[in-house]
Amino acid sequence: MKRRSTQLIHPDTSRAKSEGAVKTPIYASSTYLFESAEAGAATFALQQGRPVDHEPAPFNYARLGHPNLETVEAQLLAVEGGQAGVHDALAFESGMAAITTTLLSLLKPGSVLVTTTPLYGGTRQFIRDFLEPWGLRTYALQPSSTAEQVLKDLDGRIPSILYVETPANPTNQIWDWKLLKDLKTSWGSSGQRVILLADNTYLGPCWQKPLELGADISLYSATKSMSGHSDLICGACVGDATLIRSICSWRNKLGNTASPFTAWLLSRSLETVELRMQATQRNAQILVPRLREHPGIQRLEYPGSGAMISIWLNGPENRNNAWKFLNALKIIQLAVSLGSNESLACHPASTTHSGVDPEERKQHGIGEPLLRLSIGIEDPEDLWEDLLNALDAANER
Ligand code: PLP
Repeated sequence: MKRRSTQLIHPDTSRAKSEGAVKTPIYASSTYLFESAEAGAATFALQQGRPVDHEPAPFNYARLGHPNLETVEAQLLAVEGGQAGVHDALAFESGMAAITTTLLSLLKPGSVLVTTTPLYGGTRQFIRDFLEPWGLRTYALQPSSTAEQVLKDLDGRIPSILYVETPANPTNQIWDWKLLKDLKTSWGSSGQRVILLADNTYLGPCWQKPLELGADISLYSATKSMSGHSDLICGACVGDATLIRSICSWRNKLGNTASPFTAWLLSRSLETVELRMQATQRNAQILVPRLREHPGIQRLEYPGSGAMISIWLNGPENRNNAWKFLNALKIIQLAVSLGSNESLACHPASTTHSGVDPEERKQHGIGEPLLRLSIGIEDPEDLWEDLLNALDAANER
């Protein structure tokens, strides 16, 4: 069996190459020829889980599958450390497409959804503005929650999904995997299946393996470290093969399958994901101890690996210092998103999390002095000089 780094360069796909090309070309075709009517019918039967009595055509219609999708999904399975046959992977047109399609596939009318806090602003808004008005019961977990307490609060209703973001965007709040697994086991002992979904965007596929830690599915904004070049929006979902099959049928219906160009670009990026993530982590680990010592910073959260740093500036509880800091940056780019080759900085309260209710933001530590830093692969001394200069600007009277 090929090891991970080898699989990322040589994914297990036999059908995607053409004309002796070393790389899978971009298959800019919306539809695919059938050698016979029987072969066409067989591809649809296969996709819909019906018996197949003829050799199917390799592909039928690009929303349902195409060679670039097959290539990138093999890489996604490899980077996550998934096992062929047990696990499977899907690529989407955005991280939100992966998250919303997964939730819509697995929730039913009357389901209960338990989540950690905080969540990425877009996910929180989808739950608040779509799932809750459609009658789904949602419940925000506390770090001190117990299985019994949650059930009591839910009048005995067993949650069907436990949705986790750890470390959480934008505070780097960490959730204990033992607690999450215990909740799943305890609620699952009722006989009802409890599915543990983990948005692993923040640490990315190299530094945390949710499937090994007890999750059924890892979700990604693949726009972030998986793509790494700030030139692509895409999403991924990797995990339990049976659940993935059901999510895939919903992806086909909702129509947010990664296009040939999206899949090709993500595929190219995944070849270097480990190298890029090692480089960004190395830089973050140089900067974190220096930032911790700086008198302009009242609190810093860094999970010990990865490239995401949360800092809360000293000073009044308003946004003045944070905005002065951002406006003084010269190398680190003032932009949302994360996990890129270039370092990025943003003020979550006024951008990524501005759509979350102010009271909820406050409760989860997303205050005005909070800044989110995503460390890139520039020279760390240049980044340090930029940060020092911005901290000086923030603290100027
Ligand atoms: N999940 C997390 C943790 C994110 O940070 C983001 C985007 O910032 C998303 C999901 C949504 O992903 P996308 O922007 O690719 O739709």
